[in-house]
Amino acid sequence: MAGMSSPEPDEFSAEAPTILRAMGRAFSRRCPRCGTGDILESRFKLLQSCSDCGLCYRKESGAMTGQMYLTAIITEIFTAVLVLVVFFLTDLDTLSSIALGLPLVVLFSYLVLPISMRIWAAVEYVTDRVGEAADHSL
Ligand SMILES: [Zn+2]
Repeated sequence: MAGMSSPEPDEFSAEAPTILRAMGRAFSRRCPRCGTGDILESRFKLLQSCSDCGLCYRKESGAMTGQMYLTAIITEIFTAVLVLVVFFLTDLDTLSSIALGLPLVVLFSYLVLPISMRIWAAVEYVTDRVGEAADHSL
């Protein structure tokens, strides 16, 4: 019947979330597709799938390798900024700089890992959606 819409957003319809909306939802710990629920089972464990819309977050083993790369990239940028700040703005010697910087870098990566997991879940959702849409247009 015309005018009726399904309760779940169709992957190929205008109701599907934009890339920015999907990223924003994941960043705020919600499902990138439906925007409800929490995507983390615990601080460092992603749920298998969304309890509301069924979106699978962990499709295969190794699928979350990207989150490790994302965490590494973000941590390396933080480390580079930290090194520049310590080098140009302090008078610390090398040993003191390492003694101060190393715990900060470890703490930073600990804090950023859950954020990377959420962002990566949204990246997987968005890239899968774009790939499926391209497959359907063939
Ligand atoms: Zn969902």
